[in-house]
Amino acid sequence: MTTPAYPDTRLLIDNQWVDAADGRTLDVLNPANGQVIGRVAHAGVPDLDRALAAAQRGFETWRDTSAHDRAAVMRRAAGLLRERAEDVARLLTLEQGKPLAEARAETLAGATIIEWFADEALRVYGRIVPSRNLSALQLVIKEPVGPVAAFTPWNFPINQVVRKLAAALATGCSFLCKAPEETPASPAALLQAFVDAGLPPGVAGLVYGNPAEISGYLIPHPVIRKVTFTGSTPVGKQLAALAGAHMKRVSMELGGHAPVIVAEDADVELAVKISAASKFRNAGQVCISPTRFLVHSSLVDEFTRAFVRRAESLKLGDGLAEGTTLGPLANARRIAAMDKVVEDARRRGAEVLTGGARVGEAGNFFAPTIIAGLTTEADLFNNEPFGPVAGIRAFDRLDEAIAEANRLSYGLAAYAFTRSLRNAQQLMSRVEAGMLWINQPATPSAELPFGGVKDSGYGTEGGPEALEAYLNTKAVSAVGV
Ligand code: NAD
Repeated sequence: MTTPAYPDTRLLIDNQWVDAADGRTLDVLNPANGQVIGRVAHAGVPDLDRALAAAQRGFETWRDTSAHDRAAVMRRAAGLLRERAEDVARLLTLEQGKPLAEARAETLAGATIIEWFADEALRVYGRIVPSRNLSALQLVIKEPVGPVAAFTPWNFPINQVVRKLAAALATGCSFLCKAPEETPASPAALLQAFVDAGLPPGVAGLVYGNPAEISGYLIPHPVIRKVTFTGSTPVGKQLAALAGAHMKRVSMELGGHAPVIVAEDADVELAVKISAASKFRNAGQVCISPTRFLVHSSLVDEFTRAFVRRAESLKLGDGLAEGTTLGPLANARRIAAMDKVVEDARRRGAEVLTGGARVGEAGNFFAPTIIAGLTTEADLFNNEPFGPVAGIRAFDRLDEAIAEANRLSYGLAAYAFTRSLRNAQQLMSRVEAGMLWINQPATPSAELPFGGVKDSGYGTEGGPEALEAYLNTKAVSAVGV
């Protein structure tokens, strides 16, 4: 299989791929070697104005398209994405760095998510409410909220767009996305599948440029009725505040700092196998990545030794190379962030059991890193590392571990390993997180809610609740005369 040439990416406005009006572009780098592989168009205000006008027209067309017809377009797009998955995955790896198998899985999962939402489009029901006045017919009607502005990050260039896009299209909204400048070609390939599937012009648009300028223009704009963002908590708070000032509906999928509680009665082998696979997936650049490992003191030595062995067995390399199981970090900012986390841990007397440093000169490679002997003041136990670094602490009582899990303001994902139903029930009711996985890896499927609590945001990107976020509720009461 040969890798397709990496394309330059343009803006998608009214189903046309166009350059920015002023011709500006940004470079796109391959994180495996730091080389420039292409360019992406940088939108200015005139481009955004055109995209907004297209989104308004697209909304007027799409809301008047039957749910069956919308679902049919979505299913065709999913089919095209699946057919093209190998090429799309290669683009994704070239621009983002993750191993090809992970890029392929992300692309195929994207198709599955689109299909699930296409099916769900047929089940957006209102209701009839018995009236106190027998001559009145009382209805609750669900309507699409309107044109949506979406802001998506570079860690899952397809998945982060697809969850928002599929929910918006299923409910009859139009969708204007500022996708990541660092990984622009794979989201463009996703949108191309929708264009080829017959999505009417204006229903979905794609822009790139300066994130703060684009969000600052789109969020207050009267055409935009709903804002959805995935990214860091500080940026999410800024955008939510801006949306609040303009009374726009908002969904925020923000950072996490997932605890993993390995209880006294856990299956240690299972806990290590799942923890290592989950921790190093996408080089730890995952909002639900397990990060704070809280292990019962009777198991901590066994767990730590086995975890280190697994980390050291990973094959670091270019995501396109055969056998690579850990790719480079997506950008050079992450290397600096990892160095800072490790240095802070060392300064506080913690022990770096494996890794702890950049690997090689070219590309953003960082060794899988496990740190023990951390205090809860350590940077790693407080700020989302968003990289291939895990910290381990021992505990004696389950309620101590739960208190540590809940100590931070994050509340996205949590994991636990236990053989006892009593412990499992305590964890289910006490852990403050939007998602909890017990004795298993994360399964962020389309049919399950995906989202956080506390500083990890609000709203959810899976399950029927994900469609609600794109719907207005209208109460109608009508009396015949
Ligand atoms: P960042 O906080 O600057 O950016 C995060 C994302 O938000 C990027 O996609 C960026 O384009 C976008 N963004 C930034 N400012 C924006 C603005 N004013 N308006 C609209 N979009 C804006 O940092 P970064 O270096 O790109 O990423 C680092 C941190 O971001 C990570 O440590 C992690 O906490 C978080 N992050 C989270 C996710 C997630 O899945 N929740 C994904 C990527 C990054």
